[in-house]
Amino acid sequence: MHVRCVICDRDGEIPDESPEAKRIRNRPIHTYMCTECHDRIAQKTAERLATGKFVFRRTSESSEEEF
Ligand SMILES: [Zn+2]
Repeated sequence: MHVRCVICDRDGEIPDESPEAKRIRNRPIHTYMCTECHDRIAQKTAERLATGKFVFRRTSESSEEEF
């Protein structure tokens, strides 16, 4: 099936029977991302994780204490 990367607008082809093709067919709103962009974003996410921004805060002032 013909796809276009939502990030870099590059045309691509994925096997009709691949899980991703099925997902896009079932939900047209689902967008395709080429491997390159996917990897780049995965790397960015990893870098952001490494900065500690997404570390869960476990302070005593959180409402988690209600449990
Ligand atoms: Zn791309």
